[in-house]
Formats: sequence, structure tokens, C-alpha cells
Amino acid sequence: MNRLEFRESVHTLAKEVGVTVTEIHLRSMRNKWASCSARGRLTFDPKVLEIPDFERRRVVLHELLHLRYPNHGRMFHLMMETYGGGG
Ligand SMILES: [Zn+2]
Repeated sequence: MNRLEFRESVHTLAKEVGVTVTEIHLRSMRNKWASCSARGRLTFDPKVLEIPDFERRRVVLHELLHLRYPNHGRMFHLMMETYGGGG
């Protein structure tokens, strides 16, 4: 997947989940796939472009859900189950 396709897929999933993404950055990170800011700025390691679709969807979804749920509570996990499955 190239960077443009990736950005589009993030916006598509954000719309599904109902959160607003203000910026999407790709930048190498040492210990993790991604990070997010409260203002809706997401940063992903470019390695996410290389991993399988299913895995990438869950990485993106994880960050998107943090725009709504700051921690990994019950609702966070429920939403991961709801949206992290399929395609
Ligand atoms: Zn998290």
C-alpha cells in the first residue's frame, strides 16, 4: 500500500468510527507503530505500509479510538471488536 492509499484508508476508517482526523503523518518511530494527539493528529511508522491489511487496520483503528477513548477501557475494547474484525 502506498502513502496516498494509506491516508485515504485512515480517513475512511475514521468516518466509519465517527472521529475527526486533522493530520496524518508518517515518521519512523523506535518502539511503536503509531501515536496520536488529543487534537486529532496521528503519526504512523512507515512500516505500517508493509504489514498485512488486517494488522494495519487494527493499528489504525487503535489510534482512531484513542481520539475518543483516552485509555484501553471497556468501550475501547468493544469498539476494537466491532470495527477491527472484517476487511
Ligand atoms: Zn493504546
